[in-house]
Amino acid sequence: MRETLQAGLARLELALPPERVEALVRFGEAVLEQNKVMNLTAITEPRQAAELHLLDSLTLLKVLPLAGKSLLDVGTGAGFPGVPLKLAEPELRLSLLDSLQKRMRWLETEALPALGVEACFLTGRAESFAGEYRERFDVVASRAVARLNLLCELCLPFVRPGGYFLAMKGALAGEELHEAAGALRTLGGSYERTAEFEIGGAVHSVLVIHKTGRTPPQYPRSWARIKQKPL
Ligand code: SAM
Repeated sequence: MRETLQAGLARLELALPPERVEALVRFGEAVLEQNKVMNLTAITEPRQAAELHLLDSLTLLKVLPLAGKSLLDVGTGAGFPGVPLKLAEPELRLSLLDSLQKRMRWLETEALPALGVEACFLTGRAESFAGEYRERFDVVASRAVARLNLLCELCLPFVRPGGYFLAMKGALAGEELHEAAGALRTLGGSYERTAEFEIGGAVHSVLVIHKTGRTPPQYPRSWARIKQKPL
C-alpha cells in the first residue's frame, strides 16, 4: 500500500511530509482490517485500496485549496473522500455525514481517535440535516452516493453561497452533468469545470460546481420525492 501511495502522490505532484503518508497508510490498513468484520468496501487488495480509496480521495487537493476550509463529505461510507483529505491537510475542518450508524460509529469511536484526528460526525440522512446545517460549509464533496441530478439536491443545500460542491464521478461525468442541468439551476449551483485524473488505469472526473445563488427553502425534499421527480 505504501509504495503504491507514494508513487501515486508523486504522479499527482502532491508532496506530503512522511508522517502524513504514514497516517494515510494506517487508515487504509485499518479500513481493510475492519472490512473483515464489517461491510465497508468491495476493495480488499492493499494496492487497489491505495489507488481507488486513498489517491482518488486526494485528487480533491488538486482541485481546490482546502487548508482552513470547512468540508462536508456526504455519504462518506468508510470515510472517503473526507478522511484521507483531513490526514493530508490537517487544517481542513472536516465533517462526515452518513446514514449508516455502524460505519459512522466505527469512524467516530475507533478509526479517527486511533489516528488522533478530529471531525464532526453527522449520523443520519442528508435530507434531514439540511435544515440545521444549511449553507454552512465552504466545500461539500461526495463520491459514489447517487446520480448527479439527485445528488445535487442532497449536497447543494449545505454549501454556503460562494462555496463549492465537488462531485466525484467516473468517465461518464458529462452525461450526468447534462441530466443535472435543471437541478443545478434550481438549487443555486453553476457548473464551473471538470478536473480529470487517471486513477488505477481509468479516468476519474471531479465536477466543480460553484454555488452562485441560494437554495430555495423547499429543498431538499424527501428522498422518495427526489427519486420520483428529479429536478
Ligand atoms: N463515499 C464513500 C466511498 O466513495 O467509498 C461511500 C460510498 S457508498 C457506495 C454510499 C454511502 O452513501 C453509503 O454509506 C450510504 O449509507 C450513504 N448514503 C446514501 N444516501 C444517503 C443519504 N441520503 N444520506 C446519508 N447517507 C447516504
